[in-house]
Amino acid sequence: MDHHYDVLIVGSGHGGSMAASTLRQHGFNGTVAIVSYEDSIPYQRPPLSKGYLAGTIDLGQMLILPESFWADQRIALVLGRRVDVVDVESKRVVTHEGEEISYGTLVWAAGSRPRLLDCPGQELSGVHVIRTLSDADRLKSDVARASKVVLVGAGYVGLETAAVLRKLNKQVTILETMDRVLARVSAAPMSRFFEDEHRAQGADVRLESEVVGFEGSGGHLRAAHLSSGEVLPCEVVVVGAGSIPSGEPLIQAGAASDRGVLVDGYCRTSLPDVFAIGDCAVAPNEYADGRAVRLESVQNAVDQGIGVARLLAGAEHLSPAVPTFWSDQYDIRLRTVGLSQGHDTTVVRGDPESRSFSVIYMRSGAVVAIDSVNAMKDFAQGKALVRSRAEIEVGRLADPSLPFSELGHRAAVKR
Ligand SMILES: Cc1cc2nc3c(=O)[nH]c(=O)nc-3n(C[C@H](O)[C@H](O)[C@H](O)COP(=O)(O)OP(=O)(O)OC[C@H]3O[C@@H](n4cnc5c(N)ncnc54)[C@H](O)[C@@H]3O)c2cc1C
Repeated sequence: MDHHYDVLIVGSGHGGSMAASTLRQHGFNGTVAIVSYEDSIPYQRPPLSKGYLAGTIDLGQMLILPESFWADQRIALVLGRRVDVVDVESKRVVTHEGEEISYGTLVWAAGSRPRLLDCPGQELSGVHVIRTLSDADRLKSDVARASKVVLVGAGYVGLETAAVLRKLNKQVTILETMDRVLARVSAAPMSRFFEDEHRAQGADVRLESEVVGFEGSGGHLRAAHLSSGEVLPCEVVVVGAGSIPSGEPLIQAGAASDRGVLVDGYCRTSLPDVFAIGDCAVAPNEYADGRAVRLESVQNAVDQGIGVARLLAGAEHLSPAVPTFWSDQYDIRLRTVGLSQGHDTTVVRGDPESRSFSVIYMRSGAVVAIDSVNAMKDFAQGKALVRSRAEIEVGRLADPSLPFSELGHRAAVKR
């Protein structure tokens, strides 16, 4: 046996880092370690497709906590190690590198990884995904030599990357198999707004377009082949085709799963003394009417990390915060509050042409989510509407001259 920790955290993203730091904040005095296959001390992932890729911020500005924090707080960082096996009987994990680490409590915060395409040519140099610092570094170095870039998938990460590359003056083509961008996460008016913006910034946005393979020469990417038969010459491709939760070692150890590791309202898995948090966890969420959902956001990873640490340190359980998300593209600040899945009505508030507006999502007459573009007031004041599932007449919601805070409303849920 190499080591023992009272709390062993797998994953150095927002979830794992916040779990560790919150333990100390609440006076937990036992031994704590974070093991992660990444080599870098914990950093924030969102800038990878924004300022870090653009070269406007560096790693030092992306650290989740100052470099000295970890040693000061006696939190061991076991970096460059991948956990392959979890043995719940003997309460230990085994790393790919051959170490065994035993635990009192295991917090699985392994996040997710990019979904790859099922088509030939993915191994060519020049074909990228963007999840880690080293992914972003490789992409930056290839982009510096490239003039034509193809983005496969028009989700948040793909569109943010496209925005940065346009600013760097690259010729950018965005390919999306669906008939609109952000189709999985936003309503049609929001999709149309982002399509128009990217086109206005000079990107070639192609909807209902599917990549079937990549062509190379000497191991380097030369072109992307589309199902239409068209061949798009390019030196760099960035695939943003969604993500896969990284829960396999837990699931192989017997953890209940359903599109991720299933947990209860306290992030407890079905295994004894094992928690799962962040992108890899599927948790009941009261903002989804109690359904179990897997969320991919900093807010969710942070809050679940804090929640588990408070439980382990004996602090009071906090009621779940309203889900939030953000995306920055060009000078557009998109802020999202709530969960829009299952909505039956959308209301557009303000004129998208003004580049400041919101889309409100309603379910059974109640506000369940709001997407705001360059409308910070709607985002800030809209949280209360989502929290209470406010029931407000559609015409009043649609009127941007009526601040959300002044809309008298009936709360369907008191939180
Ligand atoms: C490019 C990009 C842009 C984003 N932009 C935004 C944004 O603007 N707003 C927002 O809210 N969210 C954004 N997200 C999503 C957000 O970053 C994630 O939801 C968040 O990082 C999840 O945190 P996490 O701790 O669950 O997992 P992660 O941050 O993914 O961390 C998982 C950690 O686990 C480690 N790991 C995985 N498997 C193992 C293993 N077997 N053994 C050891 N270590 C392992 C990895 O090394 C990693 O350190 C973005 C994500 C990406 C990739």
